[in-house]
Amino acid sequence: MSHTPERPKLYVCTGCQSVHAGTVSGGPEDHRYDAPGECAACGSTEFVEMEDYPHFG
Ligand SMILES: [Zn+2]
Repeated sequence: MSHTPERPKLYVCTGCQSVHAGTVSGGPEDHRYDAPGECAACGSTEFVEMEDYPHFG
């Protein structure tokens, strides 16, 4: 078994800077991650990928 586990993408809410795991869609061999539909904390629908968020941390 050489399959390496994949980390889910992380997204940062631009409203409150909460970090959310992306939602997975598709099958096990062609899945992808999408930003969450809505922030559970503040209701914002604006997210940026963690790696694209230069000010995080
Ligand atoms: Zn938020």
